[in-house]
Amino acid sequence: MNPHTELISADPAGIARAATLLKGGDLVAFPTETVYGLGGDARSDIAVARIFDAKGRPRFNPLIVHLPSVKAARQIAIFSPEADRLADAFWPGPLTLVLPRRPDAGLSDLVTAGLPTVAIRIPEHPLAQALLRAFGGPLAAPSANPSGKISPTCAAHVTEGLSGKIAAILDGGACAVGVESTILALDPPTLLRPGGLPAEAIEACLGTRLSSGGNITKPTAPGQLASHYAPRASVRLNVTKPAPGEIWLGYGPIGADFNLSPSSDLVEAAANLFKTLRDADRQAGPKGRIAVAPIPNHGLGRAINDRLRRAAAPRS
Ligand code: AMP
Ligand code: MG
Repeated sequence: MNPHTELISADPAGIARAATLLKGGDLVAFPTETVYGLGGDARSDIAVARIFDAKGRPRFNPLIVHLPSVKAARQIAIFSPEADRLADAFWPGPLTLVLPRRPDAGLSDLVTAGLPTVAIRIPEHPLAQALLRAFGGPLAAPSANPSGKISPTCAAHVTEGLSGKIAAILDGGACAVGVESTILALDPPTLLRPGGLPAEAIEACLGTRLSSGGNITKPTAPGQLASHYAPRASVRLNVTKPAPGEIWLGYGPIGADFNLSPSSDLVEAAANLFKTLRDADRQAGPKGRIAVAPIPNHGLGRAINDRLRRAAAPRS
């Protein structure tokens, strides 16, 4: 899709070029002080779907949203006094905070995987800062490597893993920290992932010990359980002929009630997934039934099927 991944130099013209690509929904890898991030517009379902596609991620796990300032972060998340204290002490820097997402945040559902929380980071790297300001919005940015591979700490690593799959790489040399950001959830303060900011520094700032054992793939706070995001309606998978009364969620050129992608485009289907599930659920009603057409199980189809299987699983 991007046969010629541009290597963009770290000067004002390069930053303007990278921002233009991002505004068009394309993906640009950029340096941060931790590792290179694979940036895409966090407000755009298609841009975020492209991130999962380029990385070959088998699951829609939530992505970290990068912003240039605490002021910008306040527009998308709700800050407790504890969050304020951490933001004052450690932002910009290698700390990611998981905070309640504002309903009017304007983020793609795919970037938070449908969760009511959002993971936010304010990077300190001058190029990341310049790019975020030139772009003027939130950037979703997981590490810029294929899923399951080692995180990239220089532009050549990104080229090695993602060349031909993304629009451009902003070359800013080597990353200073070289490991991912520390991820912290609050209420109570819980270390979700150790990283560039030592847990001891966070404990000293808050004057309390951090809980560990938080599970980033299965958030445990009330309202964060996976089944909470299942539709109210029951969900049946791989349905080529819906039963009477079922709302048919289609894929490909079929006459379904809703369609993830009439043109059989998995990136489009991923971009539409959360919104379409919500719409189908609303139409089906509280005791309704949703029947989902088969989705090819390759590329982004694997992540789509993973999510659909969870939606179809027995409710807890
Ligand atoms: P990466 O995409 O490799 O940068 O990793 C981001 C990490 O942040 C993943 O392990 C996610 O599960 C975690 N994460 C992002 N958003 C949230 C959230 N809202 N709640 C809990 N964990 C999150
Ligand atoms: Mg990663």
